[in-house]
Amino acid sequence: MPKKKSSPDWSYAAAPESTPVNISKRYDHFIGGKWTAPSNTKYFSTTNPATGKKLSEVAEGSEADVDAAVKAARAAYNGAWGKMSGRERGKYIYRIARLIQERAREFAIIETMDGGKPIRESRDVDIPLAANHFFYYAGWADKLDYAFPNQKVTSLGVAGQVIPWNFPFLMAAWKLAPALATGNTVVLKPAETTPLTALKLAELIADAGLPDGVVNIVTGAGETGAAIVNHPDVNKVAFTGSTAVGKLIQKSVAHTEKKLTLELGGKAANIILEDAAIDQAVEGIVNGIYFNQGHVCCAGSRLFVQENVFDEVMWKLKRRMDTLIVGDPLDKNTDVGAINSKGQLKTIQRYIKAGVKDGAEMYQPSCSLPEKGNWCPPTVFTNVAQSSIIAQEEIFGPVLAVQTFRTVPEVIEKANNTPYGLSAGVWTDKGARMFQITTNLQAGVVWGNTFNKFDPTSPFGGFKESGYGREGGLHGLGAYLNLEI
Ligand code: NAD
Repeated sequence: MPKKKSSPDWSYAAAPESTPVNISKRYDHFIGGKWTAPSNTKYFSTTNPATGKKLSEVAEGSEADVDAAVKAARAAYNGAWGKMSGRERGKYIYRIARLIQERAREFAIIETMDGGKPIRESRDVDIPLAANHFFYYAGWADKLDYAFPNQKVTSLGVAGQVIPWNFPFLMAAWKLAPALATGNTVVLKPAETTPLTALKLAELIADAGLPDGVVNIVTGAGETGAAIVNHPDVNKVAFTGSTAVGKLIQKSVAHTEKKLTLELGGKAANIILEDAAIDQAVEGIVNGIYFNQGHVCCAGSRLFVQENVFDEVMWKLKRRMDTLIVGDPLDKNTDVGAINSKGQLKTIQRYIKAGVKDGAEMYQPSCSLPEKGNWCPPTVFTNVAQSSIIAQEEIFGPVLAVQTFRTVPEVIEKANNTPYGLSAGVWTDKGARMFQITTNLQAGVVWGNTFNKFDPTSPFGGFKESGYGREGGLHGLGAYLNLEI
């Protein structure tokens, strides 16, 4: 007699994405339309976090490289691009959008190999959304006067843009599309662990025929980012990353005339009321914290459940966690991919230990993890004190801290009791309650009966230590313009 299994067998046959992609052994900077070797001749490796294998090596940007990139951007701004009509600029941006759509599968695979996120996420979310961003802002390029009626609209000049590793391609699109639509030129630096899709985008931009120097991509780590931020000929700094680095950047541009937008960390509250559709809410929790390994600034990392539905929510959540497939990010069945770097994995493990030490109760499904690479199983903590470090600090991993509440005023107070204010979610069947809570939450984005949904027409950004300024929509356009009455 076969042994009776206590839980269903959720295993599927592996279905790895196998389209071949072309990754060069080495990438230089993309400056003034040319691939340019680093002035210090230094390169660093970028590896696949799911296997630990080296994918390529990329140039390490020095101050001299950044200076060359800013000079190229300035020359393009003073030259062809600065003089071009919005209508013509729009055509180039549409072309970029269409080329991304044509090469979407290739970009999705490279994004997954370099960053560790499941192919389902990069294929169905990141890359299509990035193309949509270019389409959306292409449409505004010749309509800036209509976007801001009765105001004189002028571009800023050279934009220095520094982005993180969690949405490498999407963040590049969020930064580049509005900057180009408004007539600026750009020096962009991707994160050191995920530079490949930005470099592939440079290839695509060259294919789109953009004039040389309009978009320059310089790779490197923090020092390269600082060289961009501090360059005296940069007019606008757009940064997405940690609050700690955001604060440094804020200080360093404080005495200058540079315009600044900061998209920083978060500790989103996901609030489930007793009248919510619980099955949908559980799916929203999983989408909010586990599908992207929690590598999301707006991840629903704090869950607040109304006391009388707590048992039901937790039972359903744990059963759902048991079904999550952790493993090869290139497999189409995978739900939870690899942690982006060894350093980030250590940080997450440190927080998990701290949660246990603080007396919270931990649950992890008994999934098997691959032997090589960086992995963390989906993790949930209940019995979490409001003061616990796992309820207060951004973990940036698949770790959920659950608390309960009895009344609406109580949950509003608890949800707002954080230095961050990026996003939140509310699940309820009652419109009045939805409005009461959403209007009182201090968060830039609040989702109602859904979570982690993005749209290029909708502004995104934070309150408090989650930064300032908005990206997306008309607000995102205004951030790259001088507006005079
Ligand atoms: P990070 O701040 O360490 O790095 C972000 C980028 O800044 C990287 O490209 C890095 O090389 C560069 N950098 C590092 N030091 C710098 C310095 N002194 N000057 C200039 N640039 C510097 O953040 P990370 O670990 O790459 O990303 C994770 C963080 O990003 C999380 O806190 C997350 O919440 C945040 N994030 C926010 C949003 C948002 O829209 N609010 C979106 C994605 C990620």
